[in-house]
Amino acid sequence: MSEWPQEPPAALWRELSRERFSAPALVGDRISDVAVIGAGISGLCTALELARRGRSVTVLEAATVGAGASGRANGQVISALTRHGPEAIVEALGERFLRLLSGAADRLFDLVRRHDIDCDAVQAGWLQPAHSPGRLRRVQGLARQWAQAGVPAAALDAPEMAARLGTSVYPGGWENSQGGHINPYAFTLGLARAATGAGVVVHEQSPALRLTRSASGWQVDTPEGRVLARKVVLATAAHTGDLWPGLRRSIVPVTSYQAATAPLGARGAAILPQGHAFSDTRFDLHYMRKDRDGRLVSGGALAVQALAGRRLPARVRQRIADTFPDLGAIDVPYFWAGRIAMTVDRLPHLHRTPDGLVTWIGCNGRGLALACAMAEVVADAVCDVPDAELALAPVPVPRVPFHPIVSRTARLILPWYRWCDSRDVAAG
Ligand SMILES: Cc1cc2nc3c(=O)[nH]c(=O)nc-3n(C[C@H](O)[C@H](O)[C@H](O)COP(=O)(O)OP(=O)(O)OC[C@H]3O[C@@H](n4cnc5c(N)ncnc54)[C@H](O)[C@@H]3O)c2cc1C
Repeated sequence: MSEWPQEPPAALWRELSRERFSAPALVGDRISDVAVIGAGISGLCTALELARRGRSVTVLEAATVGAGASGRANGQVISALTRHGPEAIVEALGERFLRLLSGAADRLFDLVRRHDIDCDAVQAGWLQPAHSPGRLRRVQGLARQWAQAGVPAAALDAPEMAARLGTSVYPGGWENSQGGHINPYAFTLGLARAATGAGVVVHEQSPALRLTRSASGWQVDTPEGRVLARKVVLATAAHTGDLWPGLRRSIVPVTSYQAATAPLGARGAAILPQGHAFSDTRFDLHYMRKDRDGRLVSGGALAVQALAGRRLPARVRQRIADTFPDLGAIDVPYFWAGRIAMTVDRLPHLHRTPDGLVTWIGCNGRGLALACAMAEVVADAVCDVPDAELALAPVPVPRVPFHPIVSRTARLILPWYRWCDSRDVAAG
């Protein structure tokens, strides 16, 4: 069975997108310096960066541009990892990676400006409200660490958080004013347009079916053509198949559901009045942002996936009511789902082989800004920068223990997460 997405990207993001892009399937042979497999934000940012460095690049996309997580995300632009704060990041991945991550949101918004991408980009800040006293202490400490790392971060008390959220259900938290939100699908199409303008050749409906090593480099076979390239970048994220043996088993693909309300109109004016996006401190995250028409876009995971299309909108409706008790009845007409690549250590991994295959994987749900930043690291790896000089050190491809079972049952950990959230304890 193919691993690439079979459903179109989120209807909401497609409806709102003024960016357009389409490209023909590959027919026949192409020769490039680099073949990039996957046209999400990672593949396209990497292609753009390689083109900037003078490399010829062909991007192969199995479905259409943005068909993966990039066209389905909530759209929050966040310069942070899910579990690790700055000190833990330095310990695990080093100072250089922390610096890269610290500027990731700015990098994304710079791309928007530089390439004039019409994606409703709002850089009004990202909030992490704490849902409990214990998590409040933790995030206040994190805000201090981020500020010391040079990030525009500040701890917020309850009234400051309430003024930004439009609700007083949280006792405080912190803000990174570099963050914000975008229409992720429109952003991805804009990247494809920019990459093409920079000389990158993109082919949609062109799944890479086989990777073979030849004397002069790599051969990538698609149904009706092939690309011959010295280097190959795999940017297939949670849709990774078996092109790189073992890579699929290094991640757990998790389904994340999204839902959006109808435009809230005047009723929603007091909600997120300054245009922030927020994700709270729960392991079973509560997160929301508004789109340009004033819809609230939220989401979550489900332990049991049966009837997801009916159950998730109801859950989102309840979360919105709990968060904004004065809002009253709301309609939730949009629902979609996407796949996130989780790693066991919740860290992104860079992998490279001596013969020119490079990939990064493991967005762990926060990949929009990170993908823009990682493009530079992947491009460095493609351009033969030695391991020791890369902002993220390459590691051997790990193997998730009991992968077939874990990838089918990972979502069953959700009730445990919810219990930890309710007791204010760490999930380990
Ligand atoms: C529902 C959801 C909500 C999210 N919300 C946020 C958020 O608010 N903020 C945030 O920072 N992150 C969020 N994320 C994560 C973020 O969307 C991803 O980290 C990011 O989009 C990953 O981009 P990518 O290019 O690496 O992968 P993808 O966008 O998944 O792209 C991979 C591409 O590879 C293609 N492909 C796969 N196999 C092949 C093949 N053999 N040949 C050719 N092409 C192939 C696929 O078709 C796909 O288009 C969310 C993810 C999901 C699923």
